[in-house]
Parts: sequence; C-alpha cells; structure tokens
Amino acid sequence: MTIHAKPLARLVIDLDAVARNYLFLQKQLQLGADCAAVVKADAYGLGAAEISKTLFDQGCRHFFVAQFEEALEVKRALPPEKMPGNDFSVYVLDGPQGATAEDFETEGFVPVLNSPDDMARWTSSTRKRPAVLHLDTGMNRLGFSARETEKLAAEAEALKSFDIRYVMSHLACADDPNHAMNKAQLENFKALSAALGRPFRLSLANSGGMFLGEAYHFDLTRPGCALYGINPRPGIENPMQGVVTFEGSVLQTREIDRAGSVGYGAAYPVALGQKYAIISVGYADGYLRSLEGRGTVVIAGEKCPVVGRVSMDSIVADITQVQAQVHPGDAAEIIGEHQPVDDVAQQAGTIGYEILTGLGKRTKRSYRRTA
Ligand SMILES: *Cc1c(COP(=O)(O)O)cnc(C)c1O
Repeated sequence: MTIHAKPLARLVIDLDAVARNYLFLQKQLQLGADCAAVVKADAYGLGAAEISKTLFDQGCRHFFVAQFEEALEVKRALPPEKMPGNDFSVYVLDGPQGATAEDFETEGFVPVLNSPDDMARWTSSTRKRPAVLHLDTGMNRLGFSARETEKLAAEAEALKSFDIRYVMSHLACADDPNHAMNKAQLENFKALSAALGRPFRLSLANSGGMFLGEAYHFDLTRPGCALYGINPRPGIENPMQGVVTFEGSVLQTREIDRAGSVGYGAAYPVALGQKYAIISVGYADGYLRSLEGRGTVVIAGEKCPVVGRVSMDSIVADITQVQAQVHPGDAAEIIGEHQPVDDVAQQAGTIGYEILTGLGKRTKRSYRRTA
C-alpha cells in the first residue's frame, strides 16, 4: 500500500538565500581574506549536508563544525573527488576529542587546539599535523589563556611541530558594536598572536564581528548565524535574507459558544463569540512554551496572537479579527516572510540561534531554490 502523507507542517529552507547571504558576507571582505561557513549543529538545524554543498558551489572552502561526527557529515556531502586538506578544510571547534587523533588524521580534519592538553593529543612524532590554534582573548570559554599563550611563545619549538593553518579567537559581544569588549579583544588578539613570534594567518570574526569593520577581518572570517538569516547586528536593519519558512496547518476552528478557557491549566479565559484556530505545531516542533501569550502566527496574511498554553502538538491562535474565512488545512506561518526568526526569538525571550536549532525534530525539511 502506498501512503500519501500530507504533512501538517512544512519547514522549507531556501538554499539560494543561503548562497546569497554567503556572497554578501564575502563581499564585505578585503581582497585576500577568506570567508568560511560555520555549519555546526547541523548548520544551526537547517541541514549541514545541503548547506555545505550549496556553499561549496559558491566557492566556500572552509567549514567549521563543533564535533568530529559533524565533520564527517560535511565531508560526505561534498564531491567525493575533493579531498579535505587539499580542496577544502573542515575545522573541528571542540578540538581533537570525540575520536582518536588517527581518525582525525585519516579523515583529513583540522582540529582547533583549545588548550595545552589538546596540543598534546594532537602531537605526532612523525609528521606536522595541521591545526588551528585558539587563543582566548576575554571570553574565557575555549582557547589558550594569556599565560598559556605566553608560555607557548617562550617555547617556540612547540608550535613548529604543527602545521598551524590559522591562529583564531572568538568574540563575546560582536552583536553589540558599542560594546567595549570588542576593541579589548581585538587588541588582545593582536598582542597575543604577535607574541607567538611568527606571522600566522589570523581569524577572529563571527557574523557580528564581520560588521565591526575591516580591522576585525584578518585572513578568515567565520560567520554562522548570518548565513541562516539571523540579524548579525540586532537593532539595526537586517542586511541578511530570510532562509527559513516554518508553517503549521489549521487543524480545526472554533467559535466560543460557552464562556470558559483555552488549553492546559485553563489559563486563558475566552468569551462568547471569539474565534480560534488550532494549529498543528507545538513545543515538540520547537515552538517554545515561553511563547505563551507572546507569540503570533500569520493566517491569511494577518498576524494572530497565540493564546493559552503551548501544547506538545498544538497551539491556539485567536482569529477573531481575521477577515477571511479560515478553514482546516489552511497554512499558519510560524517563521517566514511576515515574521522573521529574530522576531519569534524576541517574542520567546531568546535568540534566533536557539529557535533555529530547535526546529524540525518532527517536521521533515524540504529545500527550495528561488533563483
Ligand atoms: C558558533 C561560532 C561561530 C559562528 O558564530 P555566529 O555568531 O553564528 O556567526 C564562529 N566562531 C566560533 C568559535 C563559534 O563557536
């Protein structure tokens, strides 16, 4: 028997928008600086294979992931005749962990060395293994501390046993151009990398960092969120194109004929004559419970407030004001052209990154090319 499923939710990724975002970011760079793509966490939930392939076709040759398994996925997605290490690079931000050094080497992945321990893990007596050296410049997350960096600088031989592709650091406040931390980290980065004694290629900027000026660009930038349409400069008009459309369907409509309440906890009172649509998306789909009383969905081109508790499989939208007749099966936009991911994140009290990485556990992604 053939099953003709008609999905009740759609998650559509516009690969051409991703490609245009990449080219737009790359255009911000001076000649000589390369633009990588950060595709960790399954490309922020949008599909690392498809995104990597799309960006490779646009000329991207540098891919950052967090973990070894993610690196494998990127490699598998790229043309099999292309070799990591030669034709493109896959950098593993978590360092040479989660697989043996031999596995990293066999696959041709480049670990980011975040600590003296990482360095010890990646040392080889027979060959100069490729690596990215990560210096902490103020975030105090991953990376060599100032003292560890000084120590490294003093024993110049230690670095010579690696093929250091880049020296990198990561900005803590790049999304806020006015934050004093940016300049402080930039100066730290220059001083610490200079102290290493050799001119290394350098990498500092994530998406936000790319918009802090050329001084932050160095040799390689590492945008993630901006590729996926998240505004790298919140509060200023978003220069990036939206990539994600996430829609649910109206399962049922109801007009209240007996005053009462809607949803779990009987938390939202309803009055006679009000109209509601029950939408096929809930927290199991990444629609956060914190959107209760704050979220909106777009039905028939009109923004409708989400009322009552967010359930596992459904939400309730107030359609009392919608002019058009609303029917079961009608689309309800959760994220899309009327409400970009950043708006939904703001409603939920979180950031676009968390919204995107939470999507799609139940909904199959589909990919669209607009051009
Ligand atoms: C995630 C990450 C990035 C990408 O950051 P965005 O803000 O998404 O552009 C860049 N560098 C490092 C080290 C990261 O962990």
